[in-house]
Amino acid sequence: MEKSYRLETLSIHAGQAPDPTTGAIMTPIYQTSTYVQSAPGEHQGYEYSRTDNPTRRALQDLIAALEGGRYGLAFSSGMSAIDTILRLFNPGDHVVVGNDVYGGTYRLFERIIARYGLLFSWVDLTDLDAVRAAYTPQTRLLWLETPTNPLMALADIAALAASAPEGVLVAVDNTFASPAIQQPLMLGADIVMHSSTKYLGGHSDAVGGLVALNDEAVYKQLKFLQNAIGAVPGPMDCFLVMRGIKTLGVRIERHSENALKIAQFLEDHPRVQQVMYPGLESHPQYELARRQMKLPGGMISMILESSEYAREMVSRTKLFALAESLGGVESLIEHPYSMTHASTANSPIAVPNALVRLSVGIEHVDDLIDDLRVALM
Ligand SMILES: *Cc1c(COP(=O)(O)O)cnc(C)c1O
Repeated sequence: MEKSYRLETLSIHAGQAPDPTTGAIMTPIYQTSTYVQSAPGEHQGYEYSRTDNPTRRALQDLIAALEGGRYGLAFSSGMSAIDTILRLFNPGDHVVVGNDVYGGTYRLFERIIARYGLLFSWVDLTDLDAVRAAYTPQTRLLWLETPTNPLMALADIAALAASAPEGVLVAVDNTFASPAIQQPLMLGADIVMHSSTKYLGGHSDAVGGLVALNDEAVYKQLKFLQNAIGAVPGPMDCFLVMRGIKTLGVRIERHSENALKIAQFLEDHPRVQQVMYPGLESHPQYELARRQMKLPGGMISMILESSEYAREMVSRTKLFALAESLGGVESLIEHPYSMTHASTANSPIAVPNALVRLSVGIEHVDDLIDDLRVALM
């Protein structure tokens, strides 16, 4: 696939050449666990589907192309992708991680990986000096999300990558933005990771994780770990994510257009105390958003007057479904304190209890605004 093609073109074609044996234009779902060999060790490149599967390989090539990386890897969930990346490291190794991350990432790092001797420092990534101060001679990884979930703070990927010491891998969880908004490898990051459950899949019908990177040695280690650990997606899920990705470009445009209008509506609403959205001039890092993000995306957070009012409000919407997750064509609303981020309660990264998070879908924006107007009464 031509490197010079743009994202919208790559989304539809990269990794997805018509099937050479039948001409099928859609990548077949190779629903098989094993592959026949003509003699021991003589095969057509596939031996066993934990190791490799043609449908999965197509998706892996696709994510590599979308992120501008040389290599891609697919996993059974975003969490298993993160877990596999963390297995690159050894007891005693130190990780610097943003203090406003996905609740599941916090739980995995502190409650599971920490038991195997890795050390974590939770740092405000909007403060470059604090990040520099957090590095130790044992630091091997900087883990960041931008925009953060759920407070919508931005991390300056290029600045953080440039200031990371030699020997520290910079990994970006790009789930909230998608490559249609920002491509971290192009900004100097070493590894980019996605929960493809969200914007890449885009239709709330499959759970998955994806990774892209350029460094051959790190790729080989991750590929070894992917096969050795075995947290791989089935071919049907790979197919669904590929089908979702075909419309990524137009979806993200509409998500962003709708979200900007909704953020403006919320900002003017008397019962909303604060709106966090990178497309608003009131966002404290609006300049960075303009520089780093092609579009502001579909995620909005807001602070209401109390925790009780927030819980009532999220139960009153009709179009915005009360549910965890994000990034699908349908709009979702949630109360992070009691839902997605419940695992961070009483921790240093706990979220405000009057916070409400919206994943703005691609329905008609006027219907969405009417729904919020009624629910905010
Ligand atoms: C959902 C999510 C994950 C975890 O992905 P799963 O597919 O649910 O395992 C990781 N990071 C972010 C930012 C997420 O939103």
